[in-house]
Amino acid sequence: MREGSLEAPTRHPIDWQSADYYDEAKLDAEMRRVLDICHGCRRCFNLCDSFPRLFDLVDNSKNGELDTVDSKDFKPVVDACTLCDMCYMTKCPYVPPHEFNLDFPHLMLRYRAVEANRDGVKLKDRALAATDFNGGIATVVSGLANWATDADNKAARGVLNSLLGLNPEAALPKYAGKTLEAEAQANPPQRAENAPAKGRKAIVYATCYGNFNDTSIGKAALAVLARNGVETKVLHPHCCGMPKLEQGLIGEVADSAKLVAESFAPYIAEGWDIVALVPSCALMLKFEWPLILPRDENVKRLAAATFDLSEYVVDIARKEGLAEGLKPLDGGVAFHVSCHSRAQNMGQKGADLLRLAPQMDLTVIERCSGHGGAWGCKGSNFETALKVGKPAARQIAGAGKKYMVSECPLAGMHLAQGVERMESDAPKPELVSHPIELLARAYGE
Ligand code: SF4
Ligand code: SF4
Repeated sequence: MREGSLEAPTRHPIDWQSADYYDEAKLDAEMRRVLDICHGCRRCFNLCDSFPRLFDLVDNSKNGELDTVDSKDFKPVVDACTLCDMCYMTKCPYVPPHEFNLDFPHLMLRYRAVEANRDGVKLKDRALAATDFNGGIATVVSGLANWATDADNKAARGVLNSLLGLNPEAALPKYAGKTLEAEAQANPPQRAENAPAKGRKAIVYATCYGNFNDTSIGKAALAVLARNGVETKVLHPHCCGMPKLEQGLIGEVADSAKLVAESFAPYIAEGWDIVALVPSCALMLKFEWPLILPRDENVKRLAAATFDLSEYVVDIARKEGLAEGLKPLDGGVAFHVSCHSRAQNMGQKGADLLRLAPQMDLTVIERCSGHGGAWGCKGSNFETALKVGKPAARQIAGAGKKYMVSECPLAGMHLAQGVERMESDAPKPELVSHPIELLARAYGE
């Protein structure tokens, strides 16, 4: 729930196909209108680095008002936005249907779309956003890819860092030797007979991270769903486009949306649910794609059929009841609610999922990790990302639990780096990639 408002936020379709959207004078007028409201409000002062940059700009201007700030100085404000959606979802009382009609993240997106349209996107940023393409190659040569991307490999990382603008200390995701799709085909999960959810059929949308990087999330999901009788298939027709959205490449995101929605359409027509393994990707399918392609029927049907992974398992628990066999986990869990889980407006489904294990000792942390996808791995962003994520990392370290987990695996990795830097002799918690893995362990999988 947002502060100061009882109404649910609504979002307008993104007008990216109109010429007006890219009109720089109109964009500047909208930036000035919105930033001036934010300057007067300042509720979001501690959410990220965008707002402090904005407020410093205004406070250091000639008259302390926005009208003496040069428009070219807005760029660092935009660059600091990770599109986490937290200002929109949790703070802003002026989002539609309020007459101010304020959508700060989508305004940052428009600024980037105008830049991308005018100047193109740098090759290194394009390379980082090509998660599908990179994953397809890197899984074939995963040993080499993991050697070259390891932060301890100073020589190889030095080359990569200068080519791609990465921070030398930022941990990068490892690549799997076999994709989740291939693993699931080679070892199809064995469904339990007479299990409570045996009528359900779920397409597991592997997502780039779940398919190419960390297949443990998908394997745990398949094991839990099979134990509960759900028929599953793992598919990854294409990336959801979130990394390209961060670059303002909205047309390319629309292409991904059309392709994936068309691939899933026949399954949805046959009654399959769609379950996305990573919250940012679920957010794209459920909310961003319908705003980008509001008239595409396949996209609309896909949005209605899509579940976040935690949401799906909790839905089974509520409607059919989970299969028996869950045992308590020793040591407790510090659970981070990722921004893109919160942005799905579904409640704390990851925490609900963990509480399905008996006697769960849970600490829930609802602060931004600061990571923001590829954003937090780049140059000076990494230190900013650690600073933004410090309150969450401190809460995790202070919780004294055996495990730490975020629904967003990249946020989890980043928070683990923050926890590692905390000055404390206390043992560090074990990082787990997703709450579903702990539920699978509670089942003895
Ligand atoms: S979307 Fe997130 S990063 Fe961007 S301005 Fe809002 S709170 Fe900050
Ligand atoms: S986004 Fe909304 S809540 Fe945040 S500073 Fe701006 S006007 Fe205030």
